[in-house]
Amino acid sequence: MQPANESDPHLSIAQAGDTHVARLNALWKLSMQRGLSDAERIRAMLNMAAEMLDMDLVVLGEFGERYTARYVSDRLGVFPEGTVLMVESVLCHPVHLARTASHVADLREHPQYAEHALVNKLGLRSYSGLPVSAGEDERWVLAFLRQRSESPPQAVDIAYMELIADWLGNTLHQSAQKSLLQRIALTDLLTDLPNRRAAEERLQKEKARIARGGQGFSLVLADLDHFKLVNDRYGHGVGDEILKAVARRFESGLREGDWVARWGGEEFLFVLHNSSEAEATRIMERLADQFRTSPVETSIGDISLSFSAGVAAFGTRETDTQPMLEAIDQALYRAKSEGRDQIRTAAHTPLPWNSSLLRKALAENRIRQASQAIVDLQSGQVVADEALARIETAEGEIVEAREFVDVAEGLGLMAEVDRQVIRNVMHRCAKRMEQGGSPDFAHFVNVSPQFLARHDLVEEMLENAMSYCQSCGVTLGPVKPVVLELTERQRIVSLDRLRADLQPFIDYGFRLALDDFGSGYSSYLYLAHLPVSFLKIEGWLVSHMRQDRKVAGIVESLASFARKQGVLTVAEHVEDAETARILADMGVNYGQGWYFGKPQLVQPA
Ligand code: GH3
Ligand code: MG
Ligand code: MG
Repeated sequence: MQPANESDPHLSIAQAGDTHVARLNALWKLSMQRGLSDAERIRAMLNMAAEMLDMDLVVLGEFGERYTARYVSDRLGVFPEGTVLMVESVLCHPVHLARTASHVADLREHPQYAEHALVNKLGLRSYSGLPVSAGEDERWVLAFLRQRSESPPQAVDIAYMELIADWLGNTLHQSAQKSLLQRIALTDLLTDLPNRRAAEERLQKEKARIARGGQGFSLVLADLDHFKLVNDRYGHGVGDEILKAVARRFESGLREGDWVARWGGEEFLFVLHNSSEAEATRIMERLADQFRTSPVETSIGDISLSFSAGVAAFGTRETDTQPMLEAIDQALYRAKSEGRDQIRTAAHTPLPWNSSLLRKALAENRIRQASQAIVDLQSGQVVADEALARIETAEGEIVEAREFVDVAEGLGLMAEVDRQVIRNVMHRCAKRMEQGGSPDFAHFVNVSPQFLARHDLVEEMLENAMSYCQSCGVTLGPVKPVVLELTERQRIVSLDRLRADLQPFIDYGFRLALDDFGSGYSSYLYLAHLPVSFLKIEGWLVSHMRQDRKVAGIVESLASFARKQGVLTVAEHVEDAETARILADMGVNYGQGWYFGKPQLVQPA
């Protein structure tokens, strides 16, 4: 057999077949190669094609407003990757317009191309241009150029070029889909901000950056105030519009490099680099001011809105973001409970009980309870008591509820605290009755909405109640000796929901008391929505009524209001005999406070 002559147009079928098989093998090998990124694979493909087809320049370019040479294999070193050109000036522009391939054996002889810089300056002669389809995306063209001019490419070469164009189209398509999926997975589709997953990933990176010696940052959690009301009043569509507008507002208030993500429904997490708590607070105050002065524009008009935020600094000593997240949650909670539309920092949020200590106390069963007497103001008899949660530290110290309740609520651990206290109360109640105690004596116990929302715990509590009721051998009427105290200090999602959560207890015969009545603005809403048996008059009012006649007037009118509603009143913080007497004269039913007795620690059951 004669040696193969490359330029012989009558290349034998067998030889052409051999070449083709070798090229296919190379293509196949490349496509099986592992560990390459899409871009690396495409570049390797262009290099291989250049070698197999003996080309000087292979370009995979993208047509948009301009033409960009995205991937290039260039033996001549004349056409760098990333070159941007006016579309009309690009050799393969006609291929892009027609979306059909073009093969030119000698560009000099082609009227359209003879004057092109690639031809008269760089001396390129032979050219093939092929459209590349990446799924629906028809912006790509693959160009093969060679300085040597030859007869037009043979069918076998064209087939190979087409195969490569197809293969590149598939790779581009897959790559675009991959990045779209990644974008969807990490972007909140409503606001276009990074979503929570993305934020968590970014936080890890921020942490790693600090570990490498980078500067600290401040973390901010902002939550829109009363957003539920906005939804209720204007509908979810408008709520969504607001979330989008707020996202833009938050974003545009940031400095270069800082970021904000959608952390939850209407919660936004900010990372502010190089900012102390004070600086971060200033940035957030500026944003808050903007909310105060300019309402959010929506399709149904302007809507005024505010947000509350918690701020904590992540210094260079911190090793984990979790405590910071808990700290900003706490600070946010404080901002909410102190009236909303404000910024609170973790530094000003005393955390004597940080989460891990509280968790440990829960896990090690160190929730204790104290009991404080509730006295009938007319007879002076102790008619009830209130169970108060306490924590015993590992060192045996007793910590009062007010020091850990905020933390527990913020961390969602209140349900577990309540559970342990309630179980203990029922145990104590059963024991008292076994010993012949009166079934009319009532045990008041605080329950959080968090507890009520946990249907498993509610069920467990009712089961316990029933088994205690049976075991203590006393037949009770429809009213059971347990009173659940509710306070509006906690964030309530909806009163209807709260009512539904309480229903099993009401059905069972537990009564309800409203705690801290007179301290908040929605107390009366509670009263309207819930079948309440007791009002507990806020301690501050009680302890100030002797000095302040106005306060005394308020207490008196609360008492008379409650009487008309058929609701019994309990005055809290009764600290002296004179106050007790005045309250009795006003018709307040019961009193509780140091005058009658401080809370006494109850031995664990
Ligand atoms: P607070 O001041 O205590 O934060 O009151 P709030 O009403 O904002 O209370 P909360 O944070 O419990 O409720 C958040 C509400 O945000 C509940 C939900 O209806 C609404 N929300 C969450 N995600 C979306 C959303 O994607 N679109 C709309 N329109 N509303 C949302
Ligand atoms: Mg909110
Ligand atoms: Mg919220």
